[in-house]
Amino acid sequence: MPAHAPDASSASATTPDKTVYIETFGCQMNSADSEVVLARLGDAGYRQVGSVDEASLVLYNTCAVRDHAEAKIRGRLGALKPVKAKRPGLRIGVMGCMAQREKDAIIQRYPHVDLVVGTDQFVRMPQLLESLETRDHVVETAFGDFEGKLWEARRTEGINAWIPIMRGCNYNCTYCVVPFTRGREKSRDPAQIEDEVRRLVDDGFAQVTLLGQTVDAYGKTLGDGTTLASLLRRLHRIEGLKRLRFVTSHPKDITDELLDTIAELPKVAKHLHVPAQSGSDRILRMMGRRYTRDEYLRFVERARTKIPGVELLSDFIVGFPRESDQDFAATVSLMDAVRFAGSYVFMYSQRPGTPAENLPDDIPNEVKKARCNHLLDLQLVHQGEVYAKLHGAIRQVLVEGASKSDDAMLHGRSEGNLNIVLPRVGADGISRDPLIGSIVPVRIARSTSLTLFGDLVA
Ligand code: SF4
Repeated sequence: MPAHAPDASSASATTPDKTVYIETFGCQMNSADSEVVLARLGDAGYRQVGSVDEASLVLYNTCAVRDHAEAKIRGRLGALKPVKAKRPGLRIGVMGCMAQREKDAIIQRYPHVDLVVGTDQFVRMPQLLESLETRDHVVETAFGDFEGKLWEARRTEGINAWIPIMRGCNYNCTYCVVPFTRGREKSRDPAQIEDEVRRLVDDGFAQVTLLGQTVDAYGKTLGDGTTLASLLRRLHRIEGLKRLRFVTSHPKDITDELLDTIAELPKVAKHLHVPAQSGSDRILRMMGRRYTRDEYLRFVERARTKIPGVELLSDFIVGFPRESDQDFAATVSLMDAVRFAGSYVFMYSQRPGTPAENLPDDIPNEVKKARCNHLLDLQLVHQGEVYAKLHGAIRQVLVEGASKSDDAMLHGRSEGNLNIVLPRVGADGISRDPLIGSIVPVRIARSTSLTLFGDLVA
């Protein structure tokens, strides 16, 4: 049984006072939302615990992007039924994209769930919990504001902090649930973001990653000329902040002004995560992506010309309805043409309510799998080549901590966000642990297709 799975048989008969166990599924935006809800619950006197058995409140922060993620959450909710039968005082809440999408249907299927809280409402979690004193269930999924201190997380330690700077999306890619689960695009006030970053830097954070579904569209809804480029300039002035990153971008919103700003500002990571999704114009049209293969390739050229050494990352979906062998070959040739430093590859999963639901999910699973594996293998080859070209080069590495796979090494990220490891103890026998949180020059000596190995430049 995994550590997070509820163990009904060992559940205590007494409910501990105000303790919360949260499990987060899906993307970085969800992880950031979990930090925010934990901050609001902390304000209300809750203490985070590491298991269902210790908790008086269990929260699942859910993902609806793929059926697989939802199936996992359904399994978790089902397993909680006997736990709740033994401990009727236990509160169970579902938040995130699946909560937003399914609303009351979650309560109908799992009556032991107390709360269903949408993607714009979880900041009110303490009040919603209070209202359970007079109601059996609470379902709160209205879209609302994205302003004020309620949206600030409280983090106490770390190197990198993730800050949502916008929510929702105004694109309507035909396969995507985000416009339904997170609503229309809303940008956060830049002054409030700056305040939050200043506090994080005061707390010792070295890097801030700005989050949005289409983060390069930041500012459009503010209507006052604010752009992601102007926000980067504003945050770049903060003394003590060492590195700034942002994810995820839509190719249509990457302006020359943004590329020039990234090139000009030394603290801004030279790294762009810009999903291509497919290399076939026919599939891109059916996906509603609003760019052609040529336009994507022109963006790559612009980025590489304006930001020397920029590292590009992409996402791909394989097995979209009617994806032919030729369409797939076009995706392979796009990858060959660009040679990304990294790619995430997903098998298409039909989602209820999306426009693509009207298309037949007609690519057999084994074909989806084979295409997925093909792209993953190709990415490893490209990555190996990208990394090999860096042998002998010096990169500015933000040291994040001990390597997870080898305690004798430290790991960090280059300005292009590539994973680099270096010895934890120098040739002089002195530990490099005090470098954690600093940016240091590292000469790359060798690599595998996943990791760069180097050492400090004297
Ligand atoms: S740009 Fe498309 S894929 Fe990305 S969040 Fe918006 S609708 Fe979804």
